[in-house]
Amino acid sequence: MRPIEFKIEKKLVGKLGRVGVLSTPHGNIQTPAFVTVGTKATVKALTPEMVRDLGAQVVLANTYHLYLEPGEGIVRDAGGMQKFMNWNGPTMTDSGGFQVFSLGAAYGRGLGKILKRGEEELALPVFNEEISRKAIIDPNGVMFRSHIDGSSHYFTPEKSIEIQHNLGADIIFAFDECTSPHESDHYQAEALDRTHRWAKRSLEYHHSKSNKDSQGIFGVVQGGRNEKLRKESATFLGKLDFDGYGIGGSFEKEDMNKAVEWCNSVLPEDKPRHLLGIGEPADLFGAVENGCDLFDCVAPTRMGRNGGAHTRDGKINLTNAEFRTDFSPIDSECGCYTCGNYTRAYVAHLFRSKEMLAGTLTSIHNLRFIISLVDRMREAIGNDTFFGYKEEFLKRYYKD
Ligand SMILES: [Zn+2]
Repeated sequence: MRPIEFKIEKKLVGKLGRVGVLSTPHGNIQTPAFVTVGTKATVKALTPEMVRDLGAQVVLANTYHLYLEPGEGIVRDAGGMQKFMNWNGPTMTDSGGFQVFSLGAAYGRGLGKILKRGEEELALPVFNEEISRKAIIDPNGVMFRSHIDGSSHYFTPEKSIEIQHNLGADIIFAFDECTSPHESDHYQAEALDRTHRWAKRSLEYHHSKSNKDSQGIFGVVQGGRNEKLRKESATFLGKLDFDGYGIGGSFEKEDMNKAVEWCNSVLPEDKPRHLLGIGEPADLFGAVENGCDLFDCVAPTRMGRNGGAHTRDGKINLTNAEFRTDFSPIDSECGCYTCGNYTRAYVAHLFRSKEMLAGTLTSIHNLRFIISLVDRMREAIGNDTFFGYKEEFLKRYYKD
C-alpha cells in the first residue's frame, strides 16, 4: 500500500476534468478540492474547528516559513504538523522553492530577482529592494537569505525533503526552481533541466527513507509559458515514480489554461494534479475543466484581512464608505457563519475600528465561498451540468 491513492470516479466529457477521491493517511479528499493555506501551520485568524466547519478538507503549510520559524525540529518533536497545529485532517507542505525564489523578488512585477552563479552569472534588474535578499542558484541547490533576519541558508533537494519529512505532512513536494514567465526560453530550458535533476534527487532521497510509507511525494512540472518545455517537463516527470504532480510557475492570465492543458494532456491520467497558487473563480473553473484536482491560494484569507470579500455579484471592499450603512449580509446566498449572523455594516465597522474579528469574519466568508464554489464544480461534473454552471456563475460574478 502506498500512502497516497487516487481514484477517478467520473470524467468531464470533452475536456480533461474529473471527479475523484484522494486517500491520505489522515483521511480522504473529494476532488476537485480547494486546499486551504496555513502558511505557518495556522490558517490566519481561524481556529482549526472553524476551518473544518467551512468544509475545508486539507491544509497546506509552507516549508520555507516553518523551516525559519519555529524550525522543523520543533514541529517534528511536537509530533508533526497535524499534532502541532491541532488539524486532524490531511495536510500538505510545499517544497519551499517558490518562497526561496520569490520572497524579496519582484514577482508581482513579472521579474524574479535572481542571480545565477558560474559562467552565466547575470544580474537582473533589482528595482528598489535590498540586494541582500537575492537567491543564488548553483547546480546543487540555492543559497538564499531569510526575510526575517537576513541570515544565509542553503537548500538542496535533499534538504527540502528532509525538512518536509520532519514537518510530516501527508503530501510533500519535490524541490523545484520557480521561474518568472518573463524569463527567456533559453533560461527556462536551463532552469527546467535543473528542476528535473532536482526532482529525481528529491524522489530518490524520499524513497531511501522510511517516510515513504507515510508520506506521498508530488513532482512539480515547470517550463514557463513554452509549450515544448511544459510537455517535455510533464513527460519527464510523468515517467518518474511520483504519487502525483504539481503544476508550478507563475502564469500570465491568458495562457494559464493553455499551459495547464499542455501539462495535463501528458501527465499520467491516474495520478492527482495540483495547480499551485491559484484562487480566482475564473482560474478555478479553468483549472478544473483542464484536469486539475487540487489548488491552493492565500487569496481568500489575505484578501479577507484587507476588507475584500467575494459575492455572487463580484468582489466588494468592505472598507468602502457605502457599506457603513448596508445592513444586508456580505452575500445573501452564502449561508456561512458570517453571512448568517452579521451585516456588511457591522463588518465594515470592525475594519474601520481595526478590530481583529474583522479579519476572522471575512476570512470565514471568503474561504466558505471558494470552498463551496469548488464543491459545486465537483457536483456539476457529477451530474453533467458543469459548463452550464460555469457560464451562469462567471456571467454573474464578472458581469461581462
Ligand atoms: Zn458568507
